[in-house]
Amino acid sequence: MNGGTVHVVGAGIAGLSAAVRLADEGRKVVLHEAARFAGGRCRSYHDRTLDIRIDNGNHLLLSGNHAAIDYLRRIGSSQRLKGPDSAIFDFADLASGEHWQLRLNDGRVPWWLFKAGHRVPGTRLREYFAAFAALRAKTNTPFGDVMNCSGPLYERLWRPVLLAGLNNEPRESSARLAGAMLRETLGAGGQACRPMVALEGLSSTFVDPALTHLAAQGARIRLGERLSGVEIENGRAVALSFGKERKALAQNDALVMAVPPWIAQKMLPSLVVPDDFRTILNIHFRVEPSADQPLLLGVVNGLAEWVFAYRDHVSVTISSADRLLSEPRERLAARIWEELAKIFGFAARQPAWQILSERRATFAATPQQDAKRPSARTSWTNIALAGDWTQTDLPATIEGAVRSGYRAASIIMKEYETAHGRVAIH
Ligand SMILES: Cc1cc2nc3c(=O)[nH]c(=O)nc-3n(C[C@H](O)[C@H](O)[C@H](O)COP(=O)(O)OP(=O)(O)OC[C@H]3O[C@@H](n4cnc5c(N)ncnc54)[C@H](O)[C@@H]3O)c2cc1C
Repeated sequence: MNGGTVHVVGAGIAGLSAAVRLADEGRKVVLHEAARFAGGRCRSYHDRTLDIRIDNGNHLLLSGNHAAIDYLRRIGSSQRLKGPDSAIFDFADLASGEHWQLRLNDGRVPWWLFKAGHRVPGTRLREYFAAFAALRAKTNTPFGDVMNCSGPLYERLWRPVLLAGLNNEPRESSARLAGAMLRETLGAGGQACRPMVALEGLSSTFVDPALTHLAAQGARIRLGERLSGVEIENGRAVALSFGKERKALAQNDALVMAVPPWIAQKMLPSLVVPDDFRTILNIHFRVEPSADQPLLLGVVNGLAEWVFAYRDHVSVTISSADRLLSEPRERLAARIWEELAKIFGFAARQPAWQILSERRATFAATPQQDAKRPSARTSWTNIALAGDWTQTDLPATIEGAVRSGYRAASIIMKEYETAHGRVAIH
C-alpha cells in the first residue's frame, strides 16, 4: 500500500484524525466529505434563533483522553481546550437543594476518598471500594450485573458520569466499556480527570485547524462529495463512485472508510455494524453564565444532566434522551429553564433558546451492540475502517474516534504493527 493516494471518506473526527496522521507521515491524502462542512457530529454553526455560533452538542473531554489531546497538538489547537487546573466537578441535587464539589487528587492513589469533605455527601468510604472493584470488569455483560446500580453513591456519582460517557442507561450498558472508560480516567487519578471544554467552539478547536493543517501538508479536501459506491475486485477496492463520477484507484491507493456505520454497510454489505442508537439532546439558552457558575455542573434529580457555561450562552446536555423526543419543545425548554433558575438564581424570564436533538448521537453502548463493532482492519487489502462505532474498546467518544482514525492510518501505513499482529496506538 505504500506510496499511493489514501482516500479518506468522511471528515468527522475519525476521518480528520486519520487524514492528519497520514499526512504527517508524508502520505498523499484526499479527504472526501458529503456535507458542505467538516466535523460530522462534532461541529459549530451559526444559530439563527440565538444569533450566535453554537456547537451541535456540548462535548466534554478529560485530560486522560491522550489520543484526542495528541490530535489537537498535531493540529496546533490543544491550548483551546479550557478547564480547571485540577479535577474538580461541581454537582447540585435539585431534590435536596445540596451543592457539592468532587475534588480528586492528582495521583493514582485516591487520597480524596479519605477526606469526608471531598466525597459525595451521604456516602461512606467502603461504598467506593466496592464500586472500584466492579470497575475492573472486562466482560461484555451488563454493568448492572457487576455493580449495584442503586443508592446515593450510584445516583450521585456513577450514574451521572457513566450516563454521560456511555450515552446509555448504565445498568444496561456494557460493563467492559464502562470499565475501560473509568480505568483510563478515574482509575488513572485526578491528573487524568481534569474536565476540558472547547470554549471557543468545536469547529475552531477540532475541525478548522485540522483542515488548515491538512491543506498545509498538501492534502486535498473535497467537501460536498458524497461516496455512493465502492467497487471491489480480487479482495480490494478498485474504484470509488461519487454520484456520477467514478474514480479508479491505482494499485497502491487505499481507502479509509470514516463514515457512519449504516453508510459503511451500504457500501460494503458484508460488514456487521452496530444498528441501535441513542439520542443526545442539548438545550442552549442565550444568557451569560451567572457570576459563580462553574464551567461544568452535574445535576442530580433533574431533567438537566450536565450544564456547560460558555461566554455568551449556557447549555444543558441530556443523554440517552429518546424518551424526550415526543415532548413539546416549548415545555422542555421551560422545564429546563426552571431548573437552571433554581440552581443558579437566573431571573424567571426565559431567554432565547434552541433545542438540538442528535438522534443517532452514538451507538447504544449495550453488550449486544458492542459485539457488533467491526475491527478497523478489514478483509479487503486496501480498506480500513474508522469511526467511534468501530471496535475501539471505548464508548463512542472523541477519544474513541481519534484512536480509530489513528488505527486506520496505522493499518494503511503498516508501520505500527506489533509482533502479535496487533496495532499499537500512541
Ligand atoms: C450531541 C453530542 C454530544 C456528544 N458529546 C460528547 C462528549 O461530551 N465527549 C465525547 O468525547 N464525545 C461526545 N460525543 C461523541 C462524538 O461527537 C463522536 O464520538 C465523534 O464526533 C464521532 O466522530 P466520527 O468521525 O466517528 O463520526 P461522524 O462525526 O459521524 O463522521 C462521519 C462523517 O462522514 C460523513 N459522511 C456520511 N456519509 C458520507 C458519504 N456517503 N460520503 C462522504 N462522507 C459521508 C458525515 O457527513 C460525517 O462528517 C457527542 C456526540 C453528540 C452527537
